[in-house]
Amino acid sequence: MSSLKFPAKPESKETVYKALKELKKDDLPWQSGKVMAYVYHTIPEAHELAEEAYKLYLTENGLDPTQFQSLLQLEKEVIGMVADLLNGDSETVGNCTSGGTESVMLIVKTARDRARHLFPHITEPEIIIPETAHPCFQKAGHYLNVKVKMTPVDKSTFKADVDAMEAAITDQTILIAGSAPSYAHGVIDDIEAIAALAAANNLLCHVDACVGGMFLPFAKMLDYPIPAFDFSVPGVTSISCDLHKFGYVPKGCSSVIYRNKELRQYQLFSWSDWPGYSIINPTVLSSKTGGPMAAAWSLFKFLGIEGYKEAVKACMDGRDIVIEALKDIPELDLLGSPDISLLCFASNSAAVNVFELVERMKEKGWFIQAQLKSAVSEASIHLSITHFNVPHMAPMMEDLKTAVAELKTEAKAPHPMLAMLTPEMLQGLLANFTPATLDSLEQLLGTDDKGIPDNFLIINNILNTLEPAQRDKLLVAFVNKMFSGA
Ligand SMILES: *Cc1c(COP(=O)(O)O)cnc(C)c1O
Repeated sequence: MSSLKFPAKPESKETVYKALKELKKDDLPWQSGKVMAYVYHTIPEAHELAEEAYKLYLTENGLDPTQFQSLLQLEKEVIGMVADLLNGDSETVGNCTSGGTESVMLIVKTARDRARHLFPHITEPEIIIPETAHPCFQKAGHYLNVKVKMTPVDKSTFKADVDAMEAAITDQTILIAGSAPSYAHGVIDDIEAIAALAAANNLLCHVDACVGGMFLPFAKMLDYPIPAFDFSVPGVTSISCDLHKFGYVPKGCSSVIYRNKELRQYQLFSWSDWPGYSIINPTVLSSKTGGPMAAAWSLFKFLGIEGYKEAVKACMDGRDIVIEALKDIPELDLLGSPDISLLCFASNSAAVNVFELVERMKEKGWFIQAQLKSAVSEASIHLSITHFNVPHMAPMMEDLKTAVAELKTEAKAPHPMLAMLTPEMLQGLLANFTPATLDSLEQLLGTDDKGIPDNFLIINNILNTLEPAQRDKLLVAFVNKMFSGA
């Protein structure tokens, strides 16, 4: 039986709203502008307009765009405007989705169903992605029963090794993809080479511009050196572009765009063999809000090319402040050469543990994101700099410099817990993993009253020593527990 009871007596609107606000008080204080991940935010006027536009569509249902025709119109116009930025033409089509993950899952479904229709010899479909590609491709493969082959990237530029992608092609391959740019390093793959490889092998070529699609076109207009990555490149068959990132649209808004309808037809799902209404869904969701699309449409018009260019210019200045300041911190190395205001850096000093640095920065009021070590790079710190972060970049880099100096001079003994939790001990624990293992780990580490661990320094260090498959096992068990028992 649940320990929480469904509310018996109605409460006043004010009481409920107050309780809701109270609930929010421990959330990451992104409004400070000192949070360099998760949140993409621009000028307050744009935020207010997005809120109004979203509210106007709280109740309408995109399930049937023949009945809510304004939703059809909004979606077509939003896609049309994005396609214009991405050098589409009158053939270009697309849909709004709930996020980048949905966009990429739809691309993989389209490729799979197109292969089923056109290439019956393909019985075990495969896609090829560089190892820097976002995990949403893995998620798509996992959900859709499509094999995902990861190929290496160059370990100094972090760009896809296109020869390795070519070597991975088999008669079961249906799609290859590159990122514009990758999330972790902010680096654009050589899309022209990837698309040429796809065309030469009669394969679909997807460009994951989830984070870059609403940034790179404006950076190009500002004369930053942006390599071709969009529909101007022959061979590119589809692009995913999130609007809830550098489009500054409230969460729940991405776009999936195809060179033509011929390709997109495999994305749709229809079912009329039941007693209810006929289902014909272009995307994953069936009943669907129009809020995010209305907000996107409004923001595009309100900010226009000028507004987005201004935001992009500011972000690029923010990026350059970080790159310059890193040159003065010899213990930290920028990884690769970021094409947009997403970047990461690692430590080359044994005295500066990046996870400790993240915690030290948190004490100084900054939220920066830890990235675990992988086959691609060592453990690092990621920054996603968006418009409203920019004024804070110079002070942040001052604090970063101080934090590094503090860690170096303190030369503390390693945390006693870390000395105890040796990789061997952890391997042993995980080899016979049961719910009790998780309980004892949690007891060791300590959690707050919501079951959320409060010592990310230890947790990140532990995860960093584990193999990815073990990390995933631990994370699944942990989150499965975290979302239980209110
Ligand atoms: C954010 C991101 C995604 C996934 O987007 P969600 O909206 O979080 O589902 C995919 N690819 C890249 C490159 C991204 O940055």
